[in-house]
Amino acid sequence: MTAISFEFYPPKTDEQRAQLDRTVDRLKAHAPEYVSCTFGAGGSTLSYTSGTIARLIQHHALDAAPHLSCVGGTREELLSLLADYRALGCRRIVALRGDLPSGMGHPGDLRYAADLVALIRAEHGDHFHIEVGAYPETHPQASDALRDLAHFKAKVDAGAQGAITQYFYSADAYFHFVDAVRALGVQIPVVPGIMPISNFSQLRRFSESCGAEIPRWIDKRMQALGDDANAVRAFAADVVAGLCRRLVDGGAPALHFYTLNLARPTQAVLARMG
Ligand code: FAD
Repeated sequence: MTAISFEFYPPKTDEQRAQLDRTVDRLKAHAPEYVSCTFGAGGSTLSYTSGTIARLIQHHALDAAPHLSCVGGTREELLSLLADYRALGCRRIVALRGDLPSGMGHPGDLRYAADLVALIRAEHGDHFHIEVGAYPETHPQASDALRDLAHFKAKVDAGAQGAITQYFYSADAYFHFVDAVRALGVQIPVVPGIMPISNFSQLRRFSESCGAEIPRWIDKRMQALGDDANAVRAFAADVVAGLCRRLVDGGAPALHFYTLNLARPTQAVLARMG
């Protein structure tokens, strides 16, 4: 059976917290290898992430991995968070650069995710299993695709043991990326990040900013289905389940689902995958 993991974002209100608890209760039935919780750059969700991680470990008895982004943070802040996560019992970290919210001044002490990976290794040895981000369709700020691959390799050379990709809807992009990094000598597992489709207009907006391409045929079909919510849900789940099957058949080592704290879109994909 393919290993799966689920990603959540940290809820900020009591209502959102209750919703996340319901979502986690439902998704737990799929026996995830681990779950992860995102982190907002510049400290804005600093306390929310660690609180959510504590809840996932202590209340839900899950193996929970915090995301940690270095942008906007000082070395001391990052080390203090790492110490907190270690005290909570975390063994896995998703290490990222992050994106500085517009208007925020201080870039932080570390420039790239590779620097954060190196810091974690230097301070905590082998305690944490470190995952990093990967971009099969190239990171939107990369000067070119080949340099982006070299920068990915630098994170692995610094000590990353696994990678999770940005979401994509073209299996070929993933397979080409894996072939390219293998050719550079990178051997770590590269796990596809899967974005089930729920709110399509939101997804379209988000995809523009993070550099993920929505194929024209999906866009056109979604437009045609319009307000027929049942048909939209069924089509979206079919498309994403088909993508997951191709990825697994082609050798993807696991699947990481961006749940957006919703159970249903992810469950619909998993149900279709059997
Ligand atoms: P890096 O690997 O540092 O790369 C960033 C850019 O810099 C790339 O274009 C790269 O080519 C370039 N670069 C790297 N090294 C060098 C160098 N030495 N010289 C010149 N250029 C270089 N964001 C959040 O804020 N919170 C989250 O919780 C979060 N979770 C994520 C989870 C996953 C699985 C993924 C894939 C992304 C996530 N993101 C998150 C988004 C991520 O922070 C952004 O994509 C960010 O822009 C890049 O982060 P990175 O870790 O990939 O950066």
